[in-house]
Amino acid sequence: MAKVKNIQSLRGMKDIMNEDSELFTYFCENAARIAKNYGFTYFETPILEETSLFKRSVGESSDIVNKEMYQFTDKGENDVCLRPEGTAGVVRSFVQNKLDRAGGTQRWFYHGPMFRYERPQKGRLRQFHQFGCEVFGQKSVYEDANIIMLIKDILDFCKIPFVLELNSLGCTSCMPAYKETLVQHLSNFRSELCEDCDKRINANPMRVLDCKNEKCQSLLGDSPKITHNLCAACESDFDKLKEILDFNKIDYTINTILVRGLDYYSQTAFEFISNDIGAQSTIAAGGRYDKLVEYLGGRETPGIGFAMGIERLLELIVKEDTKEESLYLGAMDENSLNILTSLASSKRKTIKTSLEYTSRNFNKHFKLAQKQNASMIALIGEEELKNNTIYTKNMITGEEKTISLEDFLIE
Ligand code: ATP
Ligand code: MG
Repeated sequence: MAKVKNIQSLRGMKDIMNEDSELFTYFCENAARIAKNYGFTYFETPILEETSLFKRSVGESSDIVNKEMYQFTDKGENDVCLRPEGTAGVVRSFVQNKLDRAGGTQRWFYHGPMFRYERPQKGRLRQFHQFGCEVFGQKSVYEDANIIMLIKDILDFCKIPFVLELNSLGCTSCMPAYKETLVQHLSNFRSELCEDCDKRINANPMRVLDCKNEKCQSLLGDSPKITHNLCAACESDFDKLKEILDFNKIDYTINTILVRGLDYYSQTAFEFISNDIGAQSTIAAGGRYDKLVEYLGGRETPGIGFAMGIERLLELIVKEDTKEESLYLGAMDENSLNILTSLASSKRKTIKTSLEYTSRNFNKHFKLAQKQNASMIALIGEEELKNNTIYTKNMITGEEKTISLEDFLIE
């Protein structure tokens, strides 16, 4: 047969394996555990959604919708798209399932793959994973603080140092006036801004503040600040949030150009930044989206949420060094293998257990058990088989004993 070229993964799409997969599952399990302690429950939505969902929620002026979507027509002629982020799907489901009529505070978390057709580089993939939380029905600024404390707990558990940046984007009563002031200011040097910003001035002028272009950033220095233009209610909420964070000794810096890339945010916006992973340094980001449920056809419902980029965290996580208990089972007589399959099945209800399928001598089993880092070894040879017993050795304390199979099962 002619040699064929091996198939490679697509650009910007990565296999998660070996140490990374250990860290990946460690992160997801612990982030989920911490979120559950905060009252969140797991929520899963489809990876494929109607394209219009993201156009309407993330917004047509966003880079995500404009440039980054994996959009195609499916066999039923539907305009569909691989989800670029998690919030839109959760809100779609919230409205579809009439949870906006259920009342109360609803707290959900998710984790899974997201897709954005971006230029791949360190910390920027085309398929990446997010862990995120969404809260519906809670307007209190204490919830904003709660969300920030949850993220801090997750990062602290993973021993990841961070800087928290905070801003308030205002609400429907103060944001429009601020946008006008900003547009007026930007019009003084509109011709010097990049092409994207020129479009943003009409579509969503606050996005100009978020432009990654260095020239644009250098021109924005003395732009009017949203935090100086908040209405009384937004200002009071923002002050209260800072007070709660101060009380809990959570450091933050105010970043008045932090506007986030998506269209649906209002009031609190925040980012958690790591100084240890290079240019793509935002590890978690989120904020309030009190208008999003209405945008998607639901009843007026306040919302707040965040997403963390799991791949960016992988090189930062420091795993707890707890030695996992594990059992190595082996046959020194081929006839004991059937019994060992049943012992393995029983033991696996409580402990990680491996079973070697080939009968070997004592020393060979020992070497294999050591290689696997097993904490306990248990072997059945000719003698044990005759007596219905099993030889065991605790690999940590060195204690050896031969015991009956019944005793072994309840040990
Ligand atoms: P950035 O400014 O880095 O493009 P963003 O504003 O597009 O970020 P969000 O949509 O807020 O990012 O997503 C939340 C988090 O998801 C980011 O802070 C980041 O950690 C992660 N993330 C976003 N895009 C990617 C990507 N292409 N590859 C890996 N992680 C990503
Ligand atoms: Mg982006």
